[in-house]
Amino acid sequence: MQGPQSGLIPDAEAGAVLTIDLDAIADNWRILRERAGTDTAAVVKADAYGTGIEKTVPALLQAGCRVFFVAHLSEAKRVRAVVTEATIYVLNGFPRGTASTYANHDIRPVLGSQEEIEEWAAFCRAQGARLPAAIHVDTGMHRLGLPIVEGLALADDPRCKDFEPALLMSHLVSAEEPENQINARQIAAFTALRNALPGIPGSLANSSGTFLKDMPCFELARPGYALYGGNPTPHLTNPMSPVVNLEGRIIQLRYAHEGETAGYNATWTAPGRRRLATISVGYADGYPRAAGSTNTNVGEAGIAIVAGKYCSFVGRVSMDLIIIDVTDVPEDEIRRGDKVTLVGPDLTVDEVGRRAGTIGYEILTSLGRRYARHYRGGPR
Ligand SMILES: *Cc1c(COP(=O)(O)O)cnc(C)c1O
Repeated sequence: MQGPQSGLIPDAEAGAVLTIDLDAIADNWRILRERAGTDTAAVVKADAYGTGIEKTVPALLQAGCRVFFVAHLSEAKRVRAVVTEATIYVLNGFPRGTASTYANHDIRPVLGSQEEIEEWAAFCRAQGARLPAAIHVDTGMHRLGLPIVEGLALADDPRCKDFEPALLMSHLVSAEEPENQINARQIAAFTALRNALPGIPGSLANSSGTFLKDMPCFELARPGYALYGGNPTPHLTNPMSPVVNLEGRIIQLRYAHEGETAGYNATWTAPGRRRLATISVGYADGYPRAAGSTNTNVGEAGIAIVAGKYCSFVGRVSMDLIIIDVTDVPEDEIRRGDKVTLVGPDLTVDEVGRRAGTIGYEILTSLGRRYARHYRGGPR
């Protein structure tokens, strides 16, 4: 999802203003590299988790990052268009017949099946060049990657001489749960693989993996979410700097009297006289409809910060609008046109996600295309 570039939509013409702090992304990369104690890549799939590949990748490059992971070849080409030197891996492997596109753009596939290894090896033989690729072995996700036995068998596989196995990787299932036994099982399985395939740099840790106690980060850490300010340690204070700020605009203020309802299907009824503010952000902007409230869940549903106070969403989130209860804000402190914070240092993407029954990852990657978008900091 490619967002509009900075300044394309004027603030006054947008329902909300999204600000992305590129210096905070760079700081977060340095924090993660420090924590990992090894070479550290950046996962920039899904338009750099909604923050914008074209702005975020140069900021990461300036911070020192030299390895980037995306999900699709189309994303890899966007990364290559802004960085000439860096290494780029495509996590989702490579669609049949696209090997030459990888080679032409100096992009590396992540090979996760016998078919992919076969096709890449055959392409390299035909080219007479040992082109680099990563090998993905499945240690528990059952989503992508070779089964462990097939990974171990690569030790005697002549096809691995046809190309350059440049990285051996696997992916953690529940790294954000430090007590989960699966972490140790995956680390053990991956360590056994490394021993069977010596000399190939290894990569296992995502953002949360980097913060696991006793986690070996091998030769390359592979964080995504934490770069963008998401909390890699959900049960502890967030060690990352906030990156995303989203401010919606109040377009109307009104009163609802006891017994009157707000929004579609009248899911919320005013328990007394309430002052309501309508803001011009909705699910068409990627704000989850599931953040709407009824009278019974209004405490756990979506919130906004209005003049320094947390205010609840009332009723459903509409396509383009959200209604918030601003009764607790002194009447003369808000008026039409004022900004309310929907995401910021005191209302994190993790909390926004939780209040919508989802995770911060989905909040970031859904950030709307109608916002006026600004970037702070970054390479000059
Ligand atoms: C998305 C992804 C990552 C990054 O994970 P985060 O939790 O965002 O740090 C790393 N590796 C793979 C294979 C991924 O798909």
